[in-house]
Amino acid sequence: MNIQMVDLKGQYKKIKNEIDKAVIEVLESSAYINGPKVKDLQNHLERYLDVKYAIPVANGTDALQIALMALGLERGDEVIVPAFTFVATAEVIALLGLTPIMVDVDPNTYNLTGEIVEKAITPNTKAVVPVHLYGQTADMESIMKVAKKHNIYVIEDNAQAIGADYTFSDGTVAKAGTIGDIGTTSFFPAKNLGAYGDAGAIFTNNDDLAKEMRIIANHGMEKRYYHDKIGVNSRLDSIQAAILDIKLKYLDDYADARRKVADNYDKAFADIDAIQTPVRTDTSTHVFHQYTMRITNGKRDELNAYLNSKKIPNNIYYPVPLYEQEAFKHLAGAVDFLPSTDLLCKEVISLPIHTEMTDEIQGVIIDAVKSFFGGK
Ligand SMILES: *Cc1c(COP(=O)(O)O)cnc(C)c1O
Repeated sequence: MNIQMVDLKGQYKKIKNEIDKAVIEVLESSAYINGPKVKDLQNHLERYLDVKYAIPVANGTDALQIALMALGLERGDEVIVPAFTFVATAEVIALLGLTPIMVDVDPNTYNLTGEIVEKAITPNTKAVVPVHLYGQTADMESIMKVAKKHNIYVIEDNAQAIGADYTFSDGTVAKAGTIGDIGTTSFFPAKNLGAYGDAGAIFTNNDDLAKEMRIIANHGMEKRYYHDKIGVNSRLDSIQAAILDIKLKYLDDYADARRKVADNYDKAFADIDAIQTPVRTDTSTHVFHQYTMRITNGKRDELNAYLNSKKIPNNIYYPVPLYEQEAFKHLAGAVDFLPSTDLLCKEVISLPIHTEMTDEIQGVIIDAVKSFFGGK
């Protein structure tokens, strides 16, 4: 039995006719970069997310970098970032000569809260980058409140939660990635909305920031060959845009399929004491980019080895806190231990979850996990 963390080929096969046709259209159009397909995707993303501007770029890391570049920050300015995230979130901060301030996360949601952010604010703090880890929105209401109070920017790293809905206490609903000043996402193939190569996008409702980011993404150029600032080259290929535009139509169905897999796991593991299944908040829908649970009896590494021996794919996102990464040690400042981050790096494990999961395959995975814990 071929079990995979994600089944990109199976997903492609279901929409092969549509995709192949769209790709051939681009090939025949010769508008390979920033063609009409890119504009279509942009419009459809804006409509789907109900956001004023979507700016397609080359990947999710560039999206974060361009967002930070647009804020006009200066060397040494502090940007608050969770220590428990994929490296890209902090990498771009360091790359721009800004100072990443690594903070802990809530051990149940795996995400930042307003309270955590507020404790890290200094006179040098200029921005915070909440990450909507594994597919669930961070506590944006409290984060926005703290950001407003201290006058700092909020950039949502929404690489893992595109399509998730966040509900404020007044009942207003907004899509993840459209709540802060800027939201960014990645269309890396294995993400919930995945291209067939690298791709990403930036979202904002702010006219000035949108204009600035478009210019930065295109060599700092507004009028052709007149360069007003140092920019980057971060364009989206038309082929990727054509593919994404088709897959965007299915994004909500894909999220439903992932949630169904998550529901099955939740149910199957409900009476295993050593497993803390993912905690779902009242404020966000969960689009389950990953199904990440905590193994609370100290046997995470043993489970990892056991599943590997049974050829059941599984992964540890992420095994090392940012402040312990070789590349970031010199930037960690006074931080050398954050209790929840440290705990999560030792306890989390992610099981296969994707849009093509059959009950049969999931049954095999569930049985393997249960047998490790001494079940039948
Ligand atoms: C994938 C990811 C990124 C980077 O996206 P790329 O498209 O691979 O550059 C950034 N942040 C998070 C949280 C991610 O999961």
